[in-house]
Amino acid sequence: MVNDDARQSGAAVFGLMQDQPINLVSILQHAGRWHGEQEIVTQRVEGGIHRQSYAETLRRATALAASLLDWGLRPGDRIGTMGWNTHRHLECWYAVSGQGAICHTINPRLFVEQLNYIVNHAEDRMIFVDLSFVAALTERLQQMPTVEALVVMTDRAHMPVCDTGAVELLCYEDWVTGTDNDNKTEASMEWPTLDDNTASSLCYTSGTTGDPKGVLYTHRANLLHAYASCLPDVFDLSAKDTVLMIVPMFHANSWGLAYAAPMVGAKLVLPGADMSGASIHGLIAGEAVTKAAGVPTVWNTLLAYLDETGLGLDSLREVVVGGTALPASMISAFRDRYEVETVHAWGMTEMTPIGVFNRPKPGFDALAEDAQLAQRLKQGRVPFGVDMRIVDDRDKDLPRDGEAFGRLLVKGPWTIDRYYGDDASALADGWFDTGDIATIDSEGYMQITDRAKDVVKSGGEWISSVAVENAAIGVPGVALAACIGAAHPKWGERPLLLVQCRDGQTVAEDELRKALSESLARWQLPDAVVFVEQIPLTATGKIDKKPLRERYRSYLTRSC
Ligand code: AMP
Repeated sequence: MVNDDARQSGAAVFGLMQDQPINLVSILQHAGRWHGEQEIVTQRVEGGIHRQSYAETLRRATALAASLLDWGLRPGDRIGTMGWNTHRHLECWYAVSGQGAICHTINPRLFVEQLNYIVNHAEDRMIFVDLSFVAALTERLQQMPTVEALVVMTDRAHMPVCDTGAVELLCYEDWVTGTDNDNKTEASMEWPTLDDNTASSLCYTSGTTGDPKGVLYTHRANLLHAYASCLPDVFDLSAKDTVLMIVPMFHANSWGLAYAAPMVGAKLVLPGADMSGASIHGLIAGEAVTKAAGVPTVWNTLLAYLDETGLGLDSLREVVVGGTALPASMISAFRDRYEVETVHAWGMTEMTPIGVFNRPKPGFDALAEDAQLAQRLKQGRVPFGVDMRIVDDRDKDLPRDGEAFGRLLVKGPWTIDRYYGDDASALADGWFDTGDIATIDSEGYMQITDRAKDVVKSGGEWISSVAVENAAIGVPGVALAACIGAAHPKWGERPLLLVQCRDGQTVAEDELRKALSESLARWQLPDAVVFVEQIPLTATGKIDKKPLRERYRSYLTRSC
């Protein structure tokens, strides 16, 4: 019966369901209780394969949380992790957030100044660190005054000998297996009741300009995001899957898979530090992986390894590709040679990170082959929980016709509101500007045409640097391609293409130009092509155009 007062006042009526607050540790509790036997398999940083069940992972995360409390962990503390994808790193995520503290994933590939900056900005009290990074981190501890302890994610036998000064040096396994907390049962452990909007974790974007910015996730955002991740039109996860999580836990929240896989009780395979083709193939074949997720660079490494060895990918059904655009050549390499589907996805740290996934709608099968390919190259469409629109420079909405392109704006319960430590909102009228330029077609498929700062503005026309790069990357022998706007006396900017060839290979410029002209209009073709030894990458493995712009900005005016 509706409350009379509410009816009279016209106010909404509260429902009568359980108001159970969200704590992300409940995902691991679910996995431990209902998929207790299911495995988490890790390629250990120390070497060899490690296996443990979800039940064991829950027990160990519980012991870790108890040890953290004994150490003096307080709600809201920032606890850093500098680690590969391993069972221990996963335990840290759940133990730290589950106790109401904030798990700050540090990208070990950050440049020294950025690393110091984010540890100090986050004011991390403790850092869980993998053996691979102990030396580099120890060297910098003096510049990180808030850090009180380093916990090395290894066992006693592998503990390094190093001088950490006043900073405690602790052994992870001692905390998990060597104390009374080892006997802490799930029932005797108290996980706090948290407000849904309690911060769970912190991840800094390694922007190529300015200081990194912190994205502070909540338990609520992560939980909703994890539910959405499992949907058939997103990762399509179930208890029958074996998921190879290549996408690192230190970048963009591991695309949410560290929550989504345990949520459905999927077997989780974690690659540790070894990203070689042999290691990735070994895990896929040895663990009968059905799904894998990672950036194109990793898949290129795997494909090259398969080419060399003649090996196959029998169990694998699909790879999810995101972070940068999925090249057409990758779709066909996986499908034609190994019967593996590629699924294109787009997102960003600020979106926990899922934005869109490219899964077919009805009618897709009836399309001609080239129309299917064109569709699959788009980044994809939104799941419930993300809304998006494109606008022009005056913030006017642009049509969803697959032609008009403009700034891509997003909103939703797992999209950022403001950056950590910033007072100002990161939104304009409730929408977050992604910094990407995109089209949206009539079926809702979004396609990135460029990053706003990378578009080449030639006269009144915009040239997509991504389109030029994609055309170049399909040319045999090209390893990496970067297109930048170089200053031009007449047009303002013209495209300049930098090309890095595959090891030991060369590419003839006229061949390259011929290939480019097959997919680009004449006015979109680069004015010059420069072959370079190495194209610089950012800490997250994307092409770093900033140094390229600095070096080549006046290339065309110099050579005019
Ligand atoms: P990050 O927060 O480091 O993951 O970077 C997010 C940015 O990566 C996005 O705003 C895009 O510019 C880019 N990005 C992510 N996924 C894709 C994709 N599938 N295609 C093209 N760009 C992408």
